[in-house]
Amino acid sequence: MTTMASPYRLFDLVLARRRNLNHSLSRLTFQGPDVARMATHAPDQRIKIFFPDAAGRPSALPHRPDWLAVYRALPPQARPSMRTYTIRHLRPQAGEVDVDFVLHGDAGPASRWAIHAQLGDPVQFVAPNRDYDGEAGGYEWKPAPDTRHVLLIADETALPAASGILESLAALPAPPATQAFIEVGSAADTLALPTWPQLEVAWMPRDQHTDDRPPMVSAIHRARLPAAKTAAAGTALPDVDIESQILWDLAAPGDAGFYAWIAGEAASVLAIRHHLVKERGMDRRSLNLMGYWRRGRALDDSL
Ligand SMILES: Cc1cc2nc3c(=O)[nH]c(=O)nc-3n(C[C@H](O)[C@H](O)[C@H](O)COP(=O)(O)OP(=O)(O)OC[C@H]3O[C@@H](n4cnc5c(N)ncnc54)[C@H](O)[C@@H]3O)c2cc1C
Repeated sequence: MTTMASPYRLFDLVLARRRNLNHSLSRLTFQGPDVARMATHAPDQRIKIFFPDAAGRPSALPHRPDWLAVYRALPPQARPSMRTYTIRHLRPQAGEVDVDFVLHGDAGPASRWAIHAQLGDPVQFVAPNRDYDGEAGGYEWKPAPDTRHVLLIADETALPAASGILESLAALPAPPATQAFIEVGSAADTLALPTWPQLEVAWMPRDQHTDDRPPMVSAIHRARLPAAKTAAAGTALPDVDIESQILWDLAAPGDAGFYAWIAGEAASVLAIRHHLVKERGMDRRSLNLMGYWRRGRALDDSL
């Protein structure tokens, strides 16, 4: 009997290295025996990371095809804490994978672990399986080929993905006209990013921001937007309750004119969504609008 490879699988990893990229973002490099079997399909490839529990007991989901059923059968309080992160770099041959963590304090299990973890400490990932030959998904950066105009708006949690997106665009023979607005805590939280003649990057440090709106939201008033096409200003927009749901509106690009990838704190992304669709009448099919976290609320999403 042959066993079908699943799109995602569990990986046992240990922390191998850490490097501070700026004041609040640290690159943690993980190693594990099976990393050669891990895959990543886009610069915003998301993964789930299982962290040790409050008593420090590591996640030890079994390395069996039915690990997900085992996880789901656990009572919620016995499940390992899990959060969503982005694969920043994968080096299958070296057996290494990098994840960039925002260190925002001890309030959540992920940031707490990333601040205090020692080299050799274990975690478990749920990540794409290289042995699966179908479309595994788990990423939203899907611009039409030859897209001419890109808008990126991100905060620091989406900066790992945004950096990878800009690197992928910079590698194109003719990179598109691109505006990138990146909200960070302070000027000490910036990073080196690629450059090309039609790329404009605006770092928007919160501690220098004077507008009432969060920096990501004010960015939209500085962005060059295409003229509204199909939707008229005031178009219907389904409500999203960001206190009980993840805001995850995805583009369905058809034409190569304009493509937006917008991710960060959910209330900011919701305000941008309202502005672009209701006030500017933009076509929702060109917009990815993703709440990566919610201020004041733990995002322990389930599998
Ligand atoms: C698809 C996707 C990809 C992501 N990729 C990354 C990534 O590569 N790197 C990364 O750092 N994050 C990333 N995130 C965001 C990350 O999942 C959240 O920030 C998550 O809440 C962190 O978990 P935690 O255990 O530290 O805090 P939680 O337990 O979730 O929250 C505890 C408290 O901390 C607050 N909080 C959470 N995140 C932040 C923050 N960044 N700044 C300030 N306060 C915060 C919450 O509002 C809450 O009050 C991604 C999210 C998604 C959906």
